[in-house]
Amino acid sequence: MPKAALGSEQSRELQGKQKFYYGSNIMDSPYKVCRIPNKGEGLVATTDIARGQLILSEEPIFQYTDPRFNDRAEAFRRYNKLDRPKQKKVWKLFDVTGNRNRSEDLELVMQTNGIRLRDLMYGLFEIACRINHSCRPNTHSSWDPVKETIEIYATKNILQGEEITSTYIGNLARYALRRVCLKHIFKFTCRCWLCTLPEEDREMSDLRIQEINDLLKQEISMLGQIRELLQLYDLESIVGWQPVEAYKGAWLLASRSGYKTRARIFAERGAKLCAEIEGFDGVDTVEWRKRVMDCGDEDEEMPEDEEGFEEWLFGELEVKENVNGWGDKKVKEKIDGPGQPEAKESDEGPGEPQVKKGDDGPEEPEVKENGDGPGESEVKESGDARGDRV
Ligand SMILES: [Zn+2]
Repeated sequence: MPKAALGSEQSRELQGKQKFYYGSNIMDSPYKVCRIPNKGEGLVATTDIARGQLILSEEPIFQYTDPRFNDRAEAFRRYNKLDRPKQKKVWKLFDVTGNRNRSEDLELVMQTNGIRLRDLMYGLFEIACRINHSCRPNTHSSWDPVKETIEIYATKNILQGEEITSTYIGNLARYALRRVCLKHIFKFTCRCWLCTLPEEDREMSDLRIQEINDLLKQEISMLGQIRELLQLYDLESIVGWQPVEAYKGAWLLASRSGYKTRARIFAERGAKLCAEIEGFDGVDTVEWRKRVMDCGDEDEEMPEDEEGFEEWLFGELEVKENVNGWGDKKVKEKIDGPGQPEAKESDEGPGEPQVKKGDDGPEEPEVKENGDGPGESEVKESGDARGDRV
C-alpha cells in the first residue's frame, strides 16, 4: 500500500478576498454566503469550526422526485404549489451556465443544485445548494427524516476564512473520472487541493482509491482487511460515513463471531464517528449507541499499551460468518442515500459520463472560471446530495 500521506489542504488564501454581500440571516451561524474567486458564490467560515460541529440545518425550498426517473411534471407541479417568495428563492440559485437562472429553466436549476435526500428524492435549498464542491470536502450532509432538514456537519477542523465544501460526486473516484464527471455534469474543472497535487502524488492517490474500491468489493473475513481499509481512508483524508461503515463491518464480524469485547469497542468507535457526522441524536447514531449497549459482557483481556491494543483489536478472529457484501452493498446504499452520490468507476449512474482512462483530453470543453461561474459548488455532483448532486 502506498504510504505517503496527502498534504494538508489547509489554506487561508480566501481570507480577506471575498466580499460578503449575502449575509446569513441566522444569528450565530458560523458561515457567510459570499462570492468566491472563480467559483461564483460559496460558503466561508466566519469563525473556527470544530470537527463534528453542526454548521447548517436547513429546510428545503421544496422536495421533488428526480425527473430522470419520474414524470418530470411532478417536480413542476410541486414548484407551482410554492408561494411566490419560495419560487423567487429558486431563481436566485445559479445554474451550470454560471448565471442565476434568469431563463427560469427549472430543470436546469434542479440539475445543477438538487441535493439527494433519500432514494429518488431531491431537494433545493437556499443555502446548502451554494456550498461548493471539493473532492476532499470538509463537511458531511445528511437528511434528517424527522425534522425534514438537511444537516451539514464539519468533518474536519475548519479555520476562519476557509471555504466550506462538500462533494458532489462522493470520495471514491479517481482523478480522471472526477474530472470528466464534474466537467460533463457541472461544467467546471475542479481545482481542489486533491486535484491540484503534483502528478506523482495524484497518481499515488489514484492507486489508493483503487485499493479502497478493490477492498470494498471483497467479502470480509478478517479484521485485518478492515484495518487496511481504515488506514487507506486515513492516508486519503477520507472522513465521513466511509470510516463509519468500515467500523460497522468490524462490529458485524466481531459480534457475529461472538467476540463481545471487540464488538463493543468497534461499536463505540462507530458511534463516536457517526455522532460527528450526524449528531448525537441522529438516527444512525442512536442505532450505534444501541449496538454498544447490546454487546454484552466482556470476554477478552485487553492489552494496555496502545500499539498492542490495535494489534489485538484487529487481530485474528475465529470467524463464524463472513460479512458478505458490506463493501459494495453498503456503498450502494450510501450512494443512493442522503447526501451526495458516489461516483462509480463503472459509471452506472444515470447521466454520468463514461470515463476513459487516460482521457484527459484537451478536446473537452473548457470551463469558464471567471467571476460569475457556478463555483465548484454550484455544481453539485451527485454524491453527497449537495453532496451528491448527481
Ligand atoms: Zn477536486
